[in-house]
Order: sequence, then structure tokens, then C-alpha cells
Amino acid sequence: MWLSEILDRHCQQRGDAPALAENGRVLTWRELRAAASGVAACLASQGIGLGDRVAVYSRNRSEVLVSYFALAYLGAPFVPVNHAMPAAEYGEVGKRLDIAHVLGEAEALSRLGLPTGSTTSFEDNEFQRAMTTGEPPPAPATGMDDTLTVLLTSGTTGLPKGVAQTSGALRQATLSWLAEVKADDRIRFLNLNSLSHGGITLTFHYLAAGATVFVQREFQPRTVLRALAEHDITHIWLVPHMLRFLVTASATEPVPLPALREILFGASPITAKLLADAARTFGCAFRNVYGMTEAGGTFCTWLWDGTDATRDVPLESSGRAVPGIRVGIRGPDGHPLPLGETGEIVVGSAGRMTGYVADPGATGEVLDGGWVRTGDLGLMDEHGYVHLRGRSKDLIKRGGQNVFPAEIEQVVGQLAQVREVAVAGVPDETWGEVPVAYVVAEPGAVLSRREIAKHLRERLASYKQPARIDFVEALPRNGAGKVLRRELTRPNGASA
Ligand code: ATP
Ligand code: MG
Repeated sequence: MWLSEILDRHCQQRGDAPALAENGRVLTWRELRAAASGVAACLASQGIGLGDRVAVYSRNRSEVLVSYFALAYLGAPFVPVNHAMPAAEYGEVGKRLDIAHVLGEAEALSRLGLPTGSTTSFEDNEFQRAMTTGEPPPAPATGMDDTLTVLLTSGTTGLPKGVAQTSGALRQATLSWLAEVKADDRIRFLNLNSLSHGGITLTFHYLAAGATVFVQREFQPRTVLRALAEHDITHIWLVPHMLRFLVTASATEPVPLPALREILFGASPITAKLLADAARTFGCAFRNVYGMTEAGGTFCTWLWDGTDATRDVPLESSGRAVPGIRVGIRGPDGHPLPLGETGEIVVGSAGRMTGYVADPGATGEVLDGGWVRTGDLGLMDEHGYVHLRGRSKDLIKRGGQNVFPAEIEQVVGQLAQVREVAVAGVPDETWGEVPVAYVVAEPGAVLSRREIAKHLRERLASYKQPARIDFVEALPRNGAGKVLRRELTRPNGASA
């Protein structure tokens, strides 16, 4: 089992170097391997073994990553669940995925109301003892074709779907990413994304390269800035929404960050304004990470050094295919489209899922031969950069015309008084569907609907003009930080 080989190799080469750190508590590679094997033995004694799906319901903690390796030792698929998922939703997801056991924080577990015996809390004495036992790892029981993880999609367009990924697929995704970024053991990587969803995969890639991974339980902008300085973090991985908070916090009280080399962001689009503000604030390089759970993680990326002088990267794009992964654009009939034409983005990756758990119908709609249909629309330019236009489910069909919410959002977002904006389609008697813009103004900014409408009229065709502009206090987001358009358009949804 190659995850245990990775731990073994780091232990042999640099066993006393730090592997994982949380709030000043550091696990060296040797301690991480001991913790993973200890937890594996503890879970095995509770009857958990090959093929048992184990959910991990927690905020970001060292124990989540330890459980990832521990479950890999046992061949029990790791199913991380966002700790913000409501109990009722977990009930449905847990039943569908046939979860054998749940690990997690005592507080989170108590919300689920599951029978004792089917859960183990991280705070349990036995669990904490297992984290330090240092017994030799159990014999690796699994092969490359066994399911290693069931990662839940973010649930942006509906109930999260359980994506099964094998060990071999994760190995391919890891090799592709490491060929792209050339990571090494000097990297000090702070993961701020939820370790459920895609956060776990990218974090694992850096661990595999020998980097030290830092985790934070909460996202508090000031605490994060302090942690960046105190631990000489070189790389951070977050969503654009968090980056905005860090920029704002730095504006009131700047924190020098000489070690910071790269900010990786992804999961949702970034605005040109936020990217420029962040570049001015942090003076480091930026990497756009475009991926999808079903594709096995990231498939497109760009790296920008953060200065205007070398702006040879189309920053409005989502990057180019990473080595070993193919990306194409297809028309409605499924045929490849020429460069420059907009269609569905498809991904050919050996890291792709084997399928959705217990949903062959949905699997058949997404897996097509060796390709994954992303449901995202976009085009590829002559240099291979993919320009994402948004999800096909979000496309607004106004009469016979297609309107991309992202295009309107980008124009509204140019106004300095706009903090964030989302556009969604609402039903209309005449046109079928019309765009509505939901705008969050910068605190204290003076901004009128008329001003926004004028700005839009001067830049976009008449059929793309929003039928209405609503001011809202905040945009509704899911646990992965993505805007939930379906909640915006629900009556009374926007300000709920
Ligand atoms: P669900 O499938 O449950 O509705 P989801 O699609 O948000 O949720 P994920 O697999 O976590 O679940 O996210 C993948 C999607 O996120 C992509 O298809 C794309 O629409 C969007 N996305 C990911 N990375 C980026 C990025 N860098 N820029 C813009 N959009 C992105
Ligand atoms: Mg999706």
C-alpha cells in the first residue's frame, strides 16, 4: 500500500523532521506513522476492516489526517464530512453511503445522535492513547484497485455525492500534481480549506512530497495572519472568499510575511480586483487551482509571480492542464470543439473516480469512456489555457439567448464599491428566465442600483442586463465556501 510506503520513506530519510503541525503541537514523520498505526490498531480492535466506509466528521485537526493514513492501513475507505453539514443531511448521506462507523470531534458527533458503538470521538482516551502508541503498522492489506476514499462533492448544485477513488487513482493524481509544482520538503504548507472535499487531496500531495503541513481548526483572519508569520509558512491553500478576509485584515494591521512564497486558491472563481489587491498586499506568487472531486482533484492550473511586469499568464483563465491529464471541450453532440469555441469541459485523468457510491445512473451521466464530464462550460485558447464560463446548470436561458452569470458578475465586480456579487436566473413569464444580480456593497460604500445599471449598460448587450439588482448583506455559501445560487433565488432566500 503506497501511502504506508510514503510514511516509511520519510521516516527512513528524515524521521525527526516535522510532518504535521497544529496549534504548536508538532508530529514528526516518525510520530505521524506511529499515530496512524496506533489509530489503525485501535479501529481494527473495534471490528473495522477492509471495505468498511468510515466517516470523519470534524473541523480541520491533525486527527483527521492521522485517520486518513490509519484507514488506508486498514483498507477502510475514508469518508470526510464537512463539520457544518446538518445532522438531517448527514442522516441521508450516511445511509446512502452505508457508513460503518463515524470518527470525529465529540461535539460534532453528539449532534448526529447516532447509537453508541457506531462512533469514536477524537477526545476519547483510547483514541488519544492510540495517537502515541508507536506500534508497527499492521500489514498493508490493500492494492491499487481498492477504494481509498469516498470524498463528498461540495453540494453546490444539490445533495453532496459520494465519489469513490482508488489508491491507484490518487497515486496518479499525486504524480501529476508533483510534476506540475515541483514541491519539496522545505515547503511549509498551511491548509485553510476544509479537509473534507478537495482540501484533503491537495494537502496530501504536499505531504507526499515531504512538506510540513499545518492545520487550523477555525478560520479567523487575524489568527491566520499571525500563524503565517509565526510558523514561516511558505504556501497557503484557501478559497477566494477567505483570501478577501485576509486582505481586509492586513489592511487594518499589516503583518510582514517574508517566508510566504505562494498562495493557492480554487474551488470558485476569483475576481480580478481581489487578485490585484492580494498581490499588492502579500507580494507573493499566486496559483489558480481548478479541479473537481470526480476528476480526482486538480486538472488545470496557472502560476503567476504576482507582478505586472511578467504578466504572461491570462489571469482571467483557470490555467492549463497539469502533466498527464487531458482537458478538452465538447459540443452538445459530444464531439470535440475547435479552439476558441465554448462547450462542456471534459477531463481525461487516471485520477478519476470509479463512480458515485450507490448511484450508477448519475455515474453513467458523468463518466464517459476515460473522460469525466465536468458540467462546466468554457473554451480553450490557442495556448491551451481554459477559460471557464460557469456551470451549465447556472446558465440563464433568456428567450433564445444564453446568458453566463460569470460575465455579468465580472462587470459588476469592476466597481470599487462592490465587495461581491452573484447573478442567478429567476423565472419570468415573457422570457422564461431572466438574470438577477445580488450585490454585497463594500462596508460604508455609497452605491446605487442606478449606478450599477449604468455601468452594465455601457459594457454589456441589452439581453444580458439584469432584470433586477438586489442589495444583500452576504451571499449564502456552503461549507466549501461556494455561493449557493439556488438559495439566492428562493423567495426570502437571499438575506436569510
Ligand atoms: P456539487 O457537484 O455537489 O454540486 P461542486 O461541483 O461544487 O458540488 P466540487 O467537486 O468540490 O463540488 O467542485 C468542483 C466545481 O467547482 C467545478 O466543477 C467548478 O465548477 C468549480 N471550481 C473548482 N475550482 C475552480 C476554480 N479554480 N475556479 C472556478 N471554479 C472552480
Ligand atoms: Mg460538481
